[in-house]
Amino acid sequence: MSIEVRNVDKRFGDFVALDDVSVSIPTGQLTALLGPSGGGKSTLLRIIAGLENADDGTIEIEGVEATHLPPQKRNVGFVFQHYAAFKHMNVAKNVAFGLEIRKRPKADVERRVDELLRLVHLQQFAHRLPAQLSGGQRQRMALARALAVEPTVLLLDEPFGALDAKVRKELRDWLRRLHDEVHVTTVFVTHDQEEALEVADEIVVINDGRIEQVGTPDQLYDEPANDFVMSFLGDVT
Ligand code: ADP
Ligand code: MG
Repeated sequence: MSIEVRNVDKRFGDFVALDDVSVSIPTGQLTALLGPSGGGKSTLLRIIAGLENADDGTIEIEGVEATHLPPQKRNVGFVFQHYAAFKHMNVAKNVAFGLEIRKRPKADVERRVDELLRLVHLQQFAHRLPAQLSGGQRQRMALARALAVEPTVLLLDEPFGALDAKVRKELRDWLRRLHDEVHVTTVFVTHDQEEALEVADEIVVINDGRIEQVGTPDQLYDEPANDFVMSFLGDVT
């Protein structure tokens, strides 16, 4: 099983944002979508999520033909850079939200929220408001909320981009640990080579709307497919 992106094109007016993109993202892996700003990472992620339609090509998610499915039918969870928490709801309510709108039984919701808050070590903050959390804690809440509905795929767009270096590093380790516990197929967008190389099982390098290379961190280092990949990875400091 996998996410299969096949021959996807996306244009904005005359501008080609994605040019015949095909990539296979294996189930249960933590995959980084890595590339410079403007390369098409967010566009590809949004097309996988169903937030944007491709002009051409198809998307299959875990064996389901998804090209024309709306986002809510794709069973995906999202985390974005600027997380929009419900300001007036406490942490537990924020995490429960997706379950409550699906009318899950109250006892189930409570059990699941408890489990998730434990997973991201926020049990003791269950009754705080988002404004009373640090930036890192808020993104951990976002992770818990995205996982609440047990998505088959977790999509993250520069989830730690807005935070300072130390917190980013911490959250990176969180994402890795969380992934190793729940094994949900995860795709995270980053322009940070070091972040991708340290965290991901596999890296998809995208630039100028085209896939440059797909491989493990070791493969990318040992056998960069072209000059672009070599110089882009060479920028790691
Ligand atoms: P990345 O996430 O890799 O930085 P994006 O996928 O956001 O790149 O954008 C790829 C290119 O497509 C950029 O040049 C961007 O300006 C352009 N683009 C993205 N979304 C739109 C849009 N809605 N309208 C016009 N151009 C867009
Ligand atoms: Mg982006």
